[in-house]
Amino acid sequence: MTNTEIIAALKSGNDAFIKPSTARRAELVKGQHPLAAVLTCSDSRVVPEEIFSVSLGELFVIRTAGNVVSDFESGSVEYAAGHLGVTAIIVMGHTHCGAVGAAREGGHHGETVAPHGLNAIISEITRAISGTKSAAEAVRANVNNSVNRLLENREILELLDEGKAEIYKAVYDIETGKVEFFQ
Ligand SMILES: [Zn+2]
Repeated sequence: MTNTEIIAALKSGNDAFIKPSTARRAELVKGQHPLAAVLTCSDSRVVPEEIFSVSLGELFVIRTAGNVVSDFESGSVEYAAGHLGVTAIIVMGHTHCGAVGAAREGGHHGETVAPHGLNAIISEITRAISGTKSAAEAVRANVNNSVNRLLENREILELLDEGKAEIYKAVYDIETGKVEFFQ
């Protein structure tokens, strides 16, 4: 497909989306009260709304390749919890994650220069998964690291301490569709 065809297909998809049920959209114009915040991978196979069978207005979603967390992502979680009143924060990795796979294969190119772009993602994950022995272990270690990054945000830490929000860790299995929560 050419890009012109791709954009045309997406536009017609949007036309199909516009037609039914304008009521929900009208209601959401007044504001959003999402059930949960989900921080997960950008992988096209990992679509939180589909995975959890929810729709518009129900999840506040932050996605990066490898679900890595920097200031912008933790600031987004801070916004969801601190301003939208989201109490459940889910940090979700997934099986067959390309970013975690690249880090496991030693895909980052040294630390002689400050990492940026994709390199920054891979070095972040490489640090996060050091010492892990399997892909499954690496995915969980990477989730733990993302959680630790969120905990570096003082506002998030305060909300957690005050019992106003909780962080849940999970891994989505792209084969079975199952989301496994873990401690
Ligand atoms: Zn991924």
